[in-house]
Amino acid sequence: MFFKNFFKKYKRPFLISLFFFVFVEAVIIISTDYLKQKDINYYLGIFTSNLKSDITMANAHFTELTQLFYDFNIDNKTIVSIMAKASETKDLNRRAVLREKLYKMLHPEYIKMEHYGIRQLHFHLPGSISFLRFHRPKKFGDSLVGIREIIDYVNKYKIPIAAFEEGRIFNGFRNVYPIFQDKKFIGTVEISFSFNALQDFLIKTDSTSYLFLMKQKVVAKKVWSSEKKNYMQSQFRGFYFDRETLSNTMQMRLNKIYAINKALAAIVSKKLTEGKSFSLYFHQKNIYDDAPIIISFIAVPNINDKTVAYIIHYQFADALHILIKNSNMVFIVLTLLLFFIALVVMVYLQNEQKRRKKIFNNATHDALTGLYNRYAINHFFAQKIDEAKRYNKPLSIIFCDIDFFKKINDTYGHNIGDFVLKNIAIILKNYLRSSDISARWGGEEFIIFLPQTSSKEAAKIAEKLRQIIEDSLFSSIKIVTCSFGVAELQADDTADSFLKRVDALLYKAKENGRNRVESSLKD
Ligand code: GH3
Ligand code: MG
Ligand code: MG
Repeated sequence: MFFKNFFKKYKRPFLISLFFFVFVEAVIIISTDYLKQKDINYYLGIFTSNLKSDITMANAHFTELTQLFYDFNIDNKTIVSIMAKASETKDLNRRAVLREKLYKMLHPEYIKMEHYGIRQLHFHLPGSISFLRFHRPKKFGDSLVGIREIIDYVNKYKIPIAAFEEGRIFNGFRNVYPIFQDKKFIGTVEISFSFNALQDFLIKTDSTSYLFLMKQKVVAKKVWSSEKKNYMQSQFRGFYFDRETLSNTMQMRLNKIYAINKALAAIVSKKLTEGKSFSLYFHQKNIYDDAPIIISFIAVPNINDKTVAYIIHYQFADALHILIKNSNMVFIVLTLLLFFIALVVMVYLQNEQKRRKKIFNNATHDALTGLYNRYAINHFFAQKIDEAKRYNKPLSIIFCDIDFFKKINDTYGHNIGDFVLKNIAIILKNYLRSSDISARWGGEEFIIFLPQTSSKEAAKIAEKLRQIIEDSLFSSIKIVTCSFGVAELQADDTADSFLKRVDALLYKAKENGRNRVESSLKD
């Protein structure tokens, strides 16, 4: 009820301030959200590149280790001579003897290197022919042409190379070195480490969780079917999980990680096709007690710079969460501020509306009696005459003048005179209909408009008023009377002629002894 009345009375200020609030709030929402997204993306961009450089550093560490292994254990006369003999002979038995010799010589060193994370040591004869896999000594002699592009590359250019590549058995970060005897190319050797080794190294500095994704197409093309069990279906389209990395997810439980992956599967699957590194902000109820998480996907390129695998990294996003919370706080503060400004605007507009109404009221009303003043009545007059003529309805005027008012003033004082004026105004207001308009015409003269009223009816009303005034007690004054002139609008009347006629009738009432009604009754 209160709101209904309030709304009715202050519709304009309310709507203006509401519109102001909605408009500015929309601007605030759009701009704070834009800035927030910009901040998040900026943060995630830095996060991704930091992670990338961490991985590059870890990679460089392992490449140094393999270089060390090569320099100390392979690049010597004995090993080179075994490889030279193996590459020269076509006799498979002879090769088997040489293979056995090489295996025995380097096996203790290979075991030592395994402690450092080096997993594969693989010798090849020229032309990318597998000679000895330390991790699968019984598998040899197969051609790796077209399967192991980096070995083909070293065969072609005779320079060492470091790159990630999927193999017959497993993927790896590989370092391939050419082997020479007296400048003659006699084969190649590969020393490589898996992502698991990288992961073990990376989690020494941060206790976050990593997983490794491998492109399904690459696995299908290269890996021996007996070795495909090393992979399992991931939540992301076109990619397998490297099974080995699943057992080492540190503080995050695998089922939670799967839940995150599942929630992001559609977006991530699409982004993975772009082959670029990226990070996402993930915040969902029920996962880690609402803790926000950053998930990063770091692209792993092959020798041709094609992304064939991704390293996934999961970390609790504490810093980013604070950044987002701050940005939300700014939004809340701005909204509250705006709300108060809108409130102030509304109150101001309300006061302004009240003030204007008051000014208008003052301009159109008489201060003493509260009736319309002459200025307002002049405004009504033409309008009422027009209406009456257009709709062919009668319109009457009553002119009322207090008798011997000067005498009342003189006898009882000006204040009593005012008191009389006020009380006559009250009588007029109370007695007349709401469609009638009464106004103070001058000093002690009143004018009453009676729309849709003939002079006959108007004369009756005037007579009634005369009676009421005569019967009323005005303080110490014994009796106050008024004289009335009543006239009806004629077809050829102007405002002036109409007024003159009624004025003449009032004069007549005075002439004829006052306290009476004179009217020009129309037949
Ligand atoms: P009549 O019966 O012929 O109308 O005589 P009258 O004395 O009423 O008429 P007159 O025009 O001679 O005097 C009107 C007086 O009304 C003059 C003026 O002092 C007084 N008057 C006009 N305005 C006010 C007012 O606002 N307050 C008071 N107290 N007196 C007013
Ligand atoms: Mg007068
Ligand atoms: Mg008078």
